[in-house]
Amino acid sequence: MISPSSLIMAVDSTLSSAVGACVSENDAKALQFIEEMTKNVDSVQERILGEILSRNADTEYLKRFQLNGATDRDTFKSKVPVVTYEDLQPEIQRIANGDKSPILSSHPISEFLTSSGTSAGERKLMPTIHEELNRRQLLYSLLMPVMNLYVPGLDKGKGLYFLFIKAETKTPGGLLARPVLTSYYKSDHFKSRPYDPFNVYTSPNETILCPDSIQSMYAQMLCGLIMREEVLRVGAVFASGLLKAIRFLQVNWKQFAHDIETGTLNPKVTDPSVRECMSKILKPNPELAAFITKECSEENWECIITRIWPNTKYLDVIVTGAMAQYIPTLEYFSGGLPMACTMYASSECYFGLNLKPMCKPSEVSYTIMPNMAYFEFLPHDDSSAQDSSRDSPPRLVDLADLEVAKEYELIVTTYAGLCRYRVGDILRVTGFHNAAPQFRFIRRKNVLLSIDFDKTDESELQQAIENASVLLKEFNTSVVEYTSYADTKQIPGHYVIYWELFVKEAANAPTDEVLSQCCFQMEESLNVVYRQCRVADSIGPLEIRVVKNGTFEELMDYAISRGASINQYKVPRCVSFTPIMELLDSRVVSKHFSPALPHWTPERRR
Ligand code: AMP
Repeated sequence: MISPSSLIMAVDSTLSSAVGACVSENDAKALQFIEEMTKNVDSVQERILGEILSRNADTEYLKRFQLNGATDRDTFKSKVPVVTYEDLQPEIQRIANGDKSPILSSHPISEFLTSSGTSAGERKLMPTIHEELNRRQLLYSLLMPVMNLYVPGLDKGKGLYFLFIKAETKTPGGLLARPVLTSYYKSDHFKSRPYDPFNVYTSPNETILCPDSIQSMYAQMLCGLIMREEVLRVGAVFASGLLKAIRFLQVNWKQFAHDIETGTLNPKVTDPSVRECMSKILKPNPELAAFITKECSEENWECIITRIWPNTKYLDVIVTGAMAQYIPTLEYFSGGLPMACTMYASSECYFGLNLKPMCKPSEVSYTIMPNMAYFEFLPHDDSSAQDSSRDSPPRLVDLADLEVAKEYELIVTTYAGLCRYRVGDILRVTGFHNAAPQFRFIRRKNVLLSIDFDKTDESELQQAIENASVLLKEFNTSVVEYTSYADTKQIPGHYVIYWELFVKEAANAPTDEVLSQCCFQMEESLNVVYRQCRVADSIGPLEIRVVKNGTFEELMDYAISRGASINQYKVPRCVSFTPIMELLDSRVVSKHFSPALPHWTPERRR
């Protein structure tokens, strides 16, 4: 550490001066970088687009639009269309099949990142290039310097993070297809990261890199328990992941206590490298075992996080967007610890970070870093722009020209070759840091239900209901109306589908068994990410609640009484508003659950 005052001057940073913090040399550099990027948003964006267009000028995709070597924004905007994943699917499929010619990117596609978004029921495949790892790492390297401005002393202990790798597949052409975090954790960037006192995890790499998620979770939780007093922050990528870890503790605490008491590892953990690294960490500690038994055997799990990890200063989990539904449960388990939402990222591109990570979840705004890609924005409240076709390209706004309080859909152009690609996220500008707009994540377009990584849209739900209702035919019964709800009051959460049925012959009404099969059939029809989450136990069995006849009419009356137009009223296909939930639940006549896990195996890549 060099002297704080000289550093604060060196940082030239509204960030550090705002909180009057003293920062280390490394942090000062990172903060300086954020300042430079956010002050020069427009020139950085211009440079990034120029770089992307000149290096990819000879790709098949860009040549198609006859830019003739131009790398300026006007030419780009006038000639290159805004696209969705479906538009790019033919190119992506060719790359997946092994075509190595420069289709989207002049740099070789190193692998595909499997997005949690789906297309035709399968995960989307996002092409990436090797150097993107550097950009991702750069964004990660900015997180702790910002956090250190707000929370001192994070170098005096460890982070208990539940981090996992997931199944990988290969495309027919031999490219790996795996989630972006799996790619990152398996990279040398992560595995051989230099020691950083601010980023010491309780989980050894071997436990994070264990391909069996249960053994991985077991070992990571055990390490967290053993090092409980050193833990200063507890986290996972998304809130659902942290809650899954808490549930895992609820189910397995006796075994953990046994392992700690005896200093022996549960024989169900068979992965040799996990066993080896745990043998260095696990020593008999009856006192700790007794403590865990005492805390976990209590009926009441309120504040369990702070009881077991008493030095925790904050939870590091994303609770914005679909994850906001978990805030009350996390508050319950943590006794109201702050929840830091540090970054905003996707398989397509890592976007940016939260410069005030200790703010309330409802106030989180992300600052997109202009060096990550070229960003454009489709005004979301401008219906004419949304409906435009390729013949009249929608008017997209640049990062530097956004207006406060307006909502936009995010469009990216990446080094890996996505050009004017619709990410599908709706963001609202809340303000600026220097010249860089800051965004509240509003929602993902077209997503109705989400518990974990799953994203189910309206048409997928509709299709699933149609498939399930085939089973009702022989009972002369049909589904008259339906709506849905993501129930996250318990861990794991589950989908609840409200059905109003038309039963023609009461004597031949569908039985509980039939309706349970309908639940199962719906699960079988939902997309691959849903089914994978079910198999991994991060989503519970789907439930159908049959409601009394006339319930949906009452729902309409209620909506109209609150000002909805009779002419334009549409049954909401997903509900979460408490009075509506209460109305529906008070009319439930029977409840049915899916009796089995839906089918899931790591995907074929056609
Ligand atoms: P994936 O492509 O599976 O990596 O998912 C990326 C998507 O997750 C983004 O496009 C967002 O919709 C969502 N997401 C990522 N980070 C955040 C965040 N900090 N807050 C809310 N949603 C997020």
